[in-house]
Amino acid sequence: MTGASSGIGRASAKRLADEGANVVLGDIDAERGREVVSEIEADGGDATFVAVDVTDADDVRSMVETARETYGGLDIAHNNAGIEGDNDPLPEQSRENWDRVLGINLTGVWLAMKHELPALMEGGGGSIINTSSIAGLAADGSEPYVASKHGVVGLTKSAAVRYAEEGVRVNAVCPGVVRTPMVERSLEANPGAVEAITAEQPLGRMAEPEEIASVVAWLASEDASFVNGHALPVDGGKLA
Ligand code: NAD
Repeated sequence: MTGASSGIGRASAKRLADEGANVVLGDIDAERGREVVSEIEADGGDATFVAVDVTDADDVRSMVETARETYGGLDIAHNNAGIEGDNDPLPEQSRENWDRVLGINLTGVWLAMKHELPALMEGGGGSIINTSSIAGLAADGSEPYVASKHGVVGLTKSAAVRYAEEGVRVNAVCPGVVRTPMVERSLEANPGAVEAITAEQPLGRMAEPEEIASVVAWLASEDASFVNGHALPVDGGKLA
């Protein structure tokens, strides 16, 4: 999985390990990634960290190879690494920001799927869960972010239809606002935003990362055996 050192990815790695999965954690943040591995091991789980920049094909290939070599194959993939990028008005947005946001959030998911699909099919199938966002279903954020997350939904649907016969289900999870370091960073930059965000939430609060991880675990499981090509909002009802 990618983006495993923090926030939703960290919670998902821990939840999947709790459910008995051996987890390969990929992230650019090696220090925090190794801490998550230690947390999983302290709870009796088995996990391995691999330094991965999701925009680098060699890194992504070596993450999938690690799953093959260390644990004998790949059954579940959670492609989760993502960044928010800048939120300037569109005429002032830089090409550099566009390339970075699309590169990590969309090309990174495509690259991961490119290397994961053969490994999943080798083992007779499995489940891919891509982290999109409610910004993948509606305008909720900057144009590059919204475009990247809509792209993740498109990739998810396209691969879901194509690889269903191979036994691979592909779904996207679309979180609303989740209390993670990503959101905490932007709240620090905009004091007062907490009240505004909370006021928009039907449940009157943000999600905790574990509430997204539990949906990832369900999509990965046989309980979701007929769920394929779905982009599932986990937003406390905000889109509704
Ligand atoms: P986070 O910042 O806590 O974690 C993101 C992780 O991705 C970090 O560990 C970071 O090091 C890693 N990462 C960033 N760039 C990378 C790269 N190039 N290669 C590998 N790893 C990289 O953020 P989060 O809130 O947990 O976000 C996880 C995912 O959930 C993202 O795709 C984000 O867009 C999505 N999401 C978050 C929210 C929210 O409210 N937090 C809502 C909807 C969707």
